[in-house]
Amino acid sequence: MHYTGPVYRPPPEADTPLLEVTYGCSWGKCSFCTMYHSQKFGVSPLEDVEDDLKELIRYYPKDLKKIFLVNGDAFALPARKLLEIAELIHKYFPEIECIACYASIRNIKRKSMEDLENLRKAGYNRLYIGLETAYEPTLKQMRKGYTKEDEYNELSRLKEANMDYVALLMLGVAGRGKCIESAK
Ligand code: SF4
Repeated sequence: MHYTGPVYRPPPEADTPLLEVTYGCSWGKCSFCTMYHSQKFGVSPLEDVEDDLKELIRYYPKDLKKIFLVNGDAFALPARKLLEIAELIHKYFPEIECIACYASIRNIKRKSMEDLENLRKAGYNRLYIGLETAYEPTLKQMRKGYTKEDEYNELSRLKEANMDYVALLMLGVAGRGKCIESAK
């Protein structure tokens, strides 16, 4: 398998095969995060992705239902590229029902409604989104690169596209004395 630099996946995906389509994180500016400091962002060549799928079919059943794309925000890829990857996945695992990956609000914002609907049809149906908080001053402090309004808009568009997601929150991140504002 091609795994370049650090590899992370959410705990619920412990049994899901991990397919590298990007490495590092396309943003890399969040003030609290050191996850990919050792690895510059890059896109895996499709030939490598296909080689890895050929390897995965040796270890996973042909009727595999779910696969997880690494790394930090694989959803940063343009919709066209994500659709090509989905096609390749279905070639080797025709019964895949769910393609999961990490995604940021910025990645979603760059996709049209039509892109999101096409991606949903192609199997993208579990985005893990590190929202952290919707408390604006803390969002700014963390340099997440989006606003509370962006969060509401982009999550609404995912709902409209019927795309399942998990919003990851950092409880308490607003700090001492800010718990009520942050919780709201
Ligand atoms: S988007 Fe995620 S992986 Fe990238 S720097 Fe921020 S927290 Fe880290």
